[in-house]
Amino acid sequence: MTVKYKEPAPIHGELNPLDSMMERFSVAAEILGLDESMYNALKSPEKSVAVSLPVTMDNGKIEVFEGFRVVHSAKLGPSKGGIRYAPSVNIDEVKALAAWMTWKCAVVGIPYGGAKGGIKCNPREMSQGELERLTRAYTVAMADVFGPEKDIPAPDMGTNPQIMAWIMDEYSKLKGVASPAVVTGKPLVLGGSLGRVEATGRGVMVSARSAMGKLKMNPNKARAAVQGFGNVGSISAKLLELQGVKICAISDVTGAYMNEGGIDIEKAIAYVEQNGGNLEGFTGADTCTNEELLTADVDVLVPAALEDQITSKNADKIKARLIVEGANGPTSANADSILNDKGVMVVPDILANAGGVSVSYFEWVQNRLGYFWTEERVNRRADRIMKQAFETVFAASKKYNVNMRIAAYITAIDKVASTKQIRGIF
Ligand code: NAD
Repeated sequence: MTVKYKEPAPIHGELNPLDSMMERFSVAAEILGLDESMYNALKSPEKSVAVSLPVTMDNGKIEVFEGFRVVHSAKLGPSKGGIRYAPSVNIDEVKALAAWMTWKCAVVGIPYGGAKGGIKCNPREMSQGELERLTRAYTVAMADVFGPEKDIPAPDMGTNPQIMAWIMDEYSKLKGVASPAVVTGKPLVLGGSLGRVEATGRGVMVSARSAMGKLKMNPNKARAAVQGFGNVGSISAKLLELQGVKICAISDVTGAYMNEGGIDIEKAIAYVEQNGGNLEGFTGADTCTNEELLTADVDVLVPAALEDQITSKNADKIKARLIVEGANGPTSANADSILNDKGVMVVPDILANAGGVSVSYFEWVQNRLGYFWTEERVNRRADRIMKQAFETVFAASKKYNVNMRIAAYITAIDKVASTKQIRGIF
């Protein structure tokens, strides 16, 4: 199994996605009238752990890697969040991503706090053996941080189900008990959940449908463009197409493809499967640029690739009336007001792509029950969570007269702050 790895996001001279997140957090905190001490308490992570991981490489030499785990909040329940393997990993990034997870779990109402982990390494240059030794060393170092009732990791950039399997195995050996619930995103044979692979794209589709309802947009007449054709993008495109939406543009790292008459998404997925995982050479559409895809004459835009794609440089050219953020942080804070002024509805990342963490929660529930659900039950319950979360955020946007993004932050921060207040601050 190869480990997927994505390049770091390009810098466009805008606020980076994490600063963008903090800016929105501050706006929402001000609207909520959060007092300064609570603001500071929510800004700071509860726990930050940094470890050195000596690993014997295949050439016999020992290399020392830096590893991190940050628990931003464990007030709503055990903390939850992925582990990232990338050369760019650093403690500040991990801290901000951990806070992001707190808001995401709170907005969809699952009983988790937020965390994130990372190892500064380049998984593309490492063998499977090196990755396994590194992962096991990290698990040993974090044995007192992780736990089914404490902190539950999952895959993120550069990590995958195989890496989750090694974490589960090493943790279980250390504790002397089988502990599948210590990690989610596991392979099915080890207690992974049916529906997990499709969960994020499915949640994007459900959010898009809810938003279309509010905008009185008929899916059978709607046209969409989807940026990114990996897990989230391809599944969002497939499920939106099944809802009657015409997908007119798709893209991946190799280029963008446009067909005004609609792209056959099943064919595109089959093409990618046979073509080494990318769309290069796809003939079901004409090629176009990334900017042409983002500014295409469509009703719905689904950015499902990288951070910082919709910025102050292109936001005014966007024609879609609805943006559903499959990716984390695809819109810079500077672009928000431009989209707002144009009347574009943006279903923000912490809501739109929370289908993944919701089904991770179901995986954990099933592991603890020792009883596995059908895919139909997983999907039905995940759809319900996504629909309810959308309605809650929509109601907050009306109550506070703010856009959906600030409404999502208000919903999340209010929930975490009031829980913190009730439990008491030390
Ligand atoms: P993935 O690696 O499966 O797919 C990423 C896709 O983006 C690939 O098709 C890649 O070719 C494409 N891409 C990369 N650079 C691009 C560029 N410059 N222009 C256009 N396309 C480009 O990753 P994924 O799991 O689908 O994640 C995509 C986004 O969704 C990320 O922001 C991720 O953090 C977010 N997300 C994923 C999940 C999940 O469950 N997978 C959950 C929540 C959020």
